[in-house]
Amino acid sequence: MSDIKQSPYEMALKQLEIASQYLPKDKDWLNAIEYLKNCQRCLIVSLPIVMDDGTMKVFDGYRVQHCDVRGPTKGGLRYSKDVNLDEVKALAFWMTMKTAVMNLPYGGSKGGITVDPSKLSKTELQRLTRRYTYAIIDLLGPVKDIPAPDVGTDSKIMAWIFDTYSMAMGLPDHGVVTGKPVEVGGSLGREAATGTGLVYIMEAMAEKIGINLDAQRVAIQGFGNVGANCALQLAQNHKCKIIAVSDIKGGSYNEKGFDVQALVDHVKKTGSVANFPGAKAISNKELLTCDCDILVPAAIEKQITAEVAKGVKAKVIAEGANGPTTPDADEILNKKGIIVIPDILANAGGVTVSYFEWVQDRDAYFWDLERINKELRKIMVNAFTDVYKISQEKKVPMRIAAYILAVERLAKAIILRGIFP
Ligand code: NAD
Repeated sequence: MSDIKQSPYEMALKQLEIASQYLPKDKDWLNAIEYLKNCQRCLIVSLPIVMDDGTMKVFDGYRVQHCDVRGPTKGGLRYSKDVNLDEVKALAFWMTMKTAVMNLPYGGSKGGITVDPSKLSKTELQRLTRRYTYAIIDLLGPVKDIPAPDVGTDSKIMAWIFDTYSMAMGLPDHGVVTGKPVEVGGSLGREAATGTGLVYIMEAMAEKIGINLDAQRVAIQGFGNVGANCALQLAQNHKCKIIAVSDIKGGSYNEKGFDVQALVDHVKKTGSVANFPGAKAISNKELLTCDCDILVPAAIEKQITAEVAKGVKAKVIAEGANGPTTPDADEILNKKGIIVIPDILANAGGVTVSYFEWVQDRDAYFWDLERINKELRKIMVNAFTDVYKISQEKKVPMRIAAYILAVERLAKAIILRGIFP
């Protein structure tokens, strides 16, 4: 099947199948792989919302819990007009793999609503979020399933989820959702955590392959939470040149490197990185294949297809987004000697600081930013080292190595627990 037609969940299953070839073939292990091919629970809800003008609109919402064998399920909430069940299943599957690679005591889940949030007023968005939370409330809870921000959602939306759940339960339960504002039990460092973790992983990779991170020219697709925070830190802490950026509305290119803070201000003012004064316009496809050293896809799935991969010139791809590269593209990138730091490792800084937030909420004791970033770096570098070692020993790309590590941990848990009843 051409990778253009492959759905995100089909992509996820293909990645699992490829990694399974490197794992034991006895009955227990094969059963565990079969177990992981399926999502434990998928809930679809319809959400009638009274709009500000008095009319009613009905939106589709989803919550998928892929696997809770290693702990409560954890996964973000996406608001986008393209959200569908298949995509949410894939994102939940990747969360199971990610929490296992990072050795966090969680399983994987994801949620979404098919809506363009930019078309709703703040009050409509609040009603939609509260209705969704109420509709899936039986699935949620600090020891059951814990949402967090993803594409199209932010800390304000997490505060409404926390409030709705707490109203229904009759007590303030901070541990039910992460990525909250710090005023209501959020963690310092969570907002920037995915970008911060991505930069820690890039530092570890640069050290391994002997390049000077400060001297790299970087192209970033997607300039939201992940892309913008990554760009800011690469420019401020490493003096990297950010030469190309894009978002859903277009892109900008400047071979001399952008003033990233000015870009952030431009996005705040205009809603896009496009039309940045003095920059050349660039399309998303041109960005992915532009002449750069490091490419950071930080938007959505299936951006680097086989066709795009043929034109990629970067030496390293650090996946900020979930599922940006198709399995067919992976094969081509591998043959070209391009190193891909896979999503389930590279963008795990967000879920790791979400884990810290959850621990702090449950302890009712909050850490300072220095401690957060020190512990984040430790967990990111340890996971990187484990994955890199497997990739060297088994002579496989880092994505396969990350899957081998994750599936080993998951399969051992499935085998030890046994299959109920
Ligand atoms: P966001 O909503 O803050 O930003 C998304 C960015 O991608 C925006 O600039 C948007 O314009 C752009 N975009 C969306 N669709 C696009 C398209 N078709 N082509 C080009 N650009 C497009 O979202 P985010 O939180 O930064 O998430 C980005 C990616 O990172 C997603 O894949 C998400 O699952 C993943 N991720 C996010 C986190 C987190 O903590 N927020 C953690 C891990 C992974």
